[in-house]
Amino acid sequence: ASLPIDILTTIDGLSFNGYGQLVIQASRAITYRSSLDLANNIYSVTVPATRISSQLRRPILGANSPIEQIRLNQVGDSVVISIKAIAGWQIKETPRTNAQAIALQLVSVVPVKTSISGTPRSQPRLIYGNTTGRQLVAIDPGHGGPDVGATRNGIYEKDIVLLISKHLGRILQQMGYAVVYTRSEDIDLDLDPRVQIAEKSRASVFVSVHVNSLDANASQVSGIETYHAPGTSLGKNLAEMVHEQILASTGANDRGVRSARFYVIRNTSMPAILVETGYITNPSELARLLNPSYQERMAEAIAKGVDQFLKSYRR
Ligand SMILES: [Zn+2]
Repeated sequence: ASLPIDILTTIDGLSFNGYGQLVIQASRAITYRSSLDLANNIYSVTVPATRISSQLRRPILGANSPIEQIRLNQVGDSVVISIKAIAGWQIKETPRTNAQAIALQLVSVVPVKTSISGTPRSQPRLIYGNTTGRQLVAIDPGHGGPDVGATRNGIYEKDIVLLISKHLGRILQQMGYAVVYTRSEDIDLDLDPRVQIAEKSRASVFVSVHVNSLDANASQVSGIETYHAPGTSLGKNLAEMVHEQILASTGANDRGVRSARFYVIRNTSMPAILVETGYITNPSELARLLNPSYQERMAEAIAKGVDQFLKSYRR
């Protein structure tokens, strides 16, 4: 698609300042949103209503740079800047002091050693147990890559759940939460790495998103099931809150809050749920699951339930 002519704001440059910060400079005041793909250590900044200047200045990345790659892409009316840090480094937002600039802090996440005097060296401050300063939600789109999940007529569970999960992440970020995805692309990912991503990022809650299926002779079955691990009261509370929100906003059939020994919810230390967002084997539910506005409504309901849970347990 070609760009509308009225986009006048440009991204003019990226450069390092003297404080270990990467500064994105624009020609006029900008807003932005950010996301972190922890699995690939890529921090992305999306700046709406801008284009990339033809005279863009970019930094030269030396051999010792903690940044491995910087990519700029025009996506519709937005510029997306993706910054991949090397292992042991992370990129953090800093408070804005200039409406035309975004300063990103590079932070070493190598284990902190104690200095000779016995006082710890400076380290990122932990709030809610993580370094984002916000409560963090781990989002786990089920399956991926060669593991397509449930299928029907060439439609794959892995694709539907990724779309719902991305809506979920965006909505949670708009609510003020930090988000980490176990996968944000169509990649093969085992169950244990999903758990490790949630643990390492010190997520407050874990939400796995799936689509259900049954045999062809049970195509009349439809509805929502929300799972928690057996014997977890917080997981059960989270499941109940999310389940209620989904039923209220989608009107889908209530298949109940259930407990099950699914690996990802049994092995995560934080309250964890697995949402079966509907049956791919039920033709009318499949049609709804493929509808982008239904996917968004589903994500919004899950986000509301998560928000309700985190607000009720904030201490
Ligand atoms: Zn599944």
